[in-house]
Amino acid sequence: MNQHTLTLGTTHNVLQRYEQYVAPTYVRQPLVLTKGKGSRVWDVDGHEYLDLFPGWGVGLLGHCHRAVVQALRSQSGKIMHVPNNFLHPLQATLAQAIVQHAFDGKVFLANSGAEAIEGAIKCARKWGQGRFEIITMERSFHGRTLAALAATGQSKYQEGFAPLPEGFRTVPFNDLEAVKHAMTTNTVAVLVEPIQGEGGIRVASRDYLQGLRRLCTERQLLLIMDEVQTGMGRTGRWFAYQHAEIEPDLLVLAKGLGGGFPIGALVIHRRLGDVLGPGTHAATFGGNPLACACALAVFDAIEREALLERATTLGRFLVEELRILQSRHAVISDVRGVGLMVGVELAVPGQPIVDACRQRRVLINCTQARVLRLLPALTVTKTQLIQGLRILTASLVEGCHA
Ligand SMILES: *Cc1c(COP(=O)(O)O)cnc(C)c1O
Repeated sequence: MNQHTLTLGTTHNVLQRYEQYVAPTYVRQPLVLTKGKGSRVWDVDGHEYLDLFPGWGVGLLGHCHRAVVQALRSQSGKIMHVPNNFLHPLQATLAQAIVQHAFDGKVFLANSGAEAIEGAIKCARKWGQGRFEIITMERSFHGRTLAALAATGQSKYQEGFAPLPEGFRTVPFNDLEAVKHAMTTNTVAVLVEPIQGEGGIRVASRDYLQGLRRLCTERQLLLIMDEVQTGMGRTGRWFAYQHAEIEPDLLVLAKGLGGGFPIGALVIHRRLGDVLGPGTHAATFGGNPLACACALAVFDAIEREALLERATTLGRFLVEELRILQSRHAVISDVRGVGLMVGVELAVPGQPIVDACRQRRVLINCTQARVLRLLPALTVTKTQLIQGLRILTASLVEGCHA
């Protein structure tokens, strides 16, 4: 057997076993990734790719950031799990770090975005003392557990799963009047992403976010900010709501927080008090020492490597270059983004472009059928972005004859 058949056989073999044993819940591209470093990944056959969408936003620092790897190695040799009827120093240190970068309050640690969203929903209902309704946005995305799914304003994800938990009303995004009209005496909270990620990189305006804050304060509602995708420096600030100079009552984090390790967090503003008291909520793995060690390494790396500034300058560069591309190619109808969270809306379906880029060894994503989504690592280099732009251009030109 020559090298070629051998390596082809490996990908083929993995695909075959997926087909037989892995629940087919994902639309998967036929790429078996076995190694990553920064913004580069390698497939099982040894081909190198430029990853401009590392881990759907999880790869905030790129793959295998030295500090995260070091933290994980070191902590895993000490203790891997401490149940929550005891304490571990890193859980306190991480909660403190999150609060110091967000706002004064307390943190519940979970393992994923949806789980942290569930925590926010439970917290809002408990705080509401009978008020339970949460206003959410069209084209939002909050996760796949039943309540997070009910909060998600995209019916395609909900089909087949009725009955969903009650108490969610969906209104158009970036429309303050619509929120006002949807309020009832049962309303307890407004849940919003400062930039809709899955929804196509749609940026909430500053006026809208400030309006929501005012409205929630006036009507005694909680403002819940889902920063699972936008948080931890992605947009050039620690949290995207900070661009609007407001503070939410509840903040939800996950994805990039652990630098590749699963973790979610719910930050509860101190003014709400201890809404979730002993026995009201729990997660066996929540605040796991490995996850806390990784997240602390992420905070350190963002500060030490000045990654907020990097996200701002590189994001600006990327958007400017894409706008130049837009001026030359009619197939691009819009370019949107803040920091290193960028969407390129096309006049044609985006998946063929994603496929063409992958064939040229660059990984990007498409959401809402026509929006190419780029969430590069904050550690990406300008050279890598230029390389990505060159290949994206070639793929667009070839794919659309634009
Ligand atoms: C990905 C995402 C979620 C869900 O996170 P999971 O970890 O997949 O449960 C929730 N909200 C937003 C904004 C997301 O991008």
